[in-house]
Amino acid sequence: MSDLSQGQSTAWRGAHLAAAVAAVLVLGLAVLAGAPTLIVAGLASAFIIAGGFYVAAERGPARYRATAAAPVPDALQLPDAAQAVLECLDDPLLLLDAAGRVIFANHAAVSIVGPDSDRKHISAVLRTPELLEAVDRTLNGAENETVSFTIPVPVQRHYEASLARSRTLLGAPVLIHIRDLTAMRRAEELRADFVANASHELRTPLAAVSGFIDTLRGHAKNDEKARELFLEIMSVEAGRMRRLIEDLLSLTRIELNEHNPPAGDVDVVAVVRDAVSALAPLAQADGISIAIEREEPLFAVGDRDELTQVFQNLVHNAIKYGREKGHVRVRFGQFDSFGKRDSGQVFVAVEDEGEGIPREAIPRLTERFYRVDVKRSRERGGTGLGLAIVKHILNRHQGRLEIESTLGTGSTFTVFLPAGVRSSLSLSPS
Ligand code: ADP
Repeated sequence: MSDLSQGQSTAWRGAHLAAAVAAVLVLGLAVLAGAPTLIVAGLASAFIIAGGFYVAAERGPARYRATAAAPVPDALQLPDAAQAVLECLDDPLLLLDAAGRVIFANHAAVSIVGPDSDRKHISAVLRTPELLEAVDRTLNGAENETVSFTIPVPVQRHYEASLARSRTLLGAPVLIHIRDLTAMRRAEELRADFVANASHELRTPLAAVSGFIDTLRGHAKNDEKARELFLEIMSVEAGRMRRLIEDLLSLTRIELNEHNPPAGDVDVVAVVRDAVSALAPLAQADGISIAIEREEPLFAVGDRDELTQVFQNLVHNAIKYGREKGHVRVRFGQFDSFGKRDSGQVFVAVEDEGEGIPREAIPRLTERFYRVDVKRSRERGGTGLGLAIVKHILNRHQGRLEIESTLGTGSTFTVFLPAGVRSSLSLSPS
């Protein structure tokens, strides 16, 4: 029996037992005092309470009754073919007889009712009050209904159950169809978080721009020096909003296309060279030198524009979070597929000499808007979306990103991609 029904049934019996003990005490006192009226009253109450206890045990609410296994009536036996079909369903499915006993639970339902639910009363195998109450209502003739419930352990999961009672089938069984809504709820939460984060990120620069407009209209109206300074800040903030919107749009575009892998061959060395030239002025401003450690082409299967964005984001981060006047190295390599049928992989590693990243932060770096140091990211013009974009592009490419970092020494971001046909030709034994 479930904890819930066991607890409630124990309380039910406990109340009756306490009343019975009280009646016996009254009876004992009456005998001791030799009062005949009290003796009769005590005997009568003991009789009434004992009767009530019996009736309650026999006719109390269905779920508090004993749940001894009973054979399933022939009329409710599912044919083997029907059982086999229902077993294949991914959604949990339960069939109860008119007394609320489980007469069928498919494989998916085991995670909810456990492995030995057969012929047991539903209250003996389920610990969810919302669902048990709905079962009671359906068994007592209510209309078909849908209830939501949550199972908190071992990991919180959200479900929705539809209950329907057959009026035509002999034995009037109740069908419970359960849908796992956990992934959907999680996606809704993520979407809500994302919208909240995106609006927060936009609100900050917008507030700064509006504030400076008011100041320029007000007391700084004729202050030429202040005007120049404020216009400069407004331009920086406007740039931040522009970058954020561009990154948000990129992310959406990439996500929409994620299920559609690219097919062409791209020379990743040339792509890295283009990305590095575009970022050369930023590197120069910080006195950072960038070394591309390969000249000959290396082909990966990919989309040139998207891979350019991947390497621009990684090299830009190596500049933003690297050591001033330090070095950034981009290394390349390829390896065989160890006998598998794919064409092997190529890798591109971007190494910097920055402060490094705390170990616990590494798994979160590709989350949208996650930053180790928010202030530093903002000062360096970051949006918190660069690595999320990298991750989604690599998902589309069936590639992956590996991050290694040592505090005080630097970080290495390595991109793995499926080797292009031309690279795999060079991998084949000659
Ligand atoms: P941002 O626009 O903030 O740079 P990213 O998504 O590109 O956003 O990176 C997320 C966070 O990861 C950064 O804010 C930074 O804290 C950390 N990070 C990324 N690259 C590096 C790096 N090369 N060295 C140290 N930290 C890094």
